[in-house]
Amino acid sequence: MVTEEYKQLSYSDVGMACGFQVRAKTEAEVMKHAKTHAAEAHGLKEISADTEKKIKAAIKTVSADVPAKK
Ligand SMILES: [Zn+2]
Repeated sequence: MVTEEYKQLSYSDVGMACGFQVRAKTEAEVMKHAKTHAAEAHGLKEISADTEKKIKAAIKTVSADVPAKK
């Protein structure tokens, strides 16, 4: 097992009544998933700069054990 760092976002941390959580290798990837979810689940076609700032502030770096590559 190796420990890798991930970027993780919970929408509840952004102040939304929503259990959506995403984990990805980069902040850009997290943002992409967050925007897709906002559009599909909440009808938010556009995310304001303010909301984007809130989302970025809520992104945490977490460590996870993943199987080592062979
Ligand atoms: Zn949601």
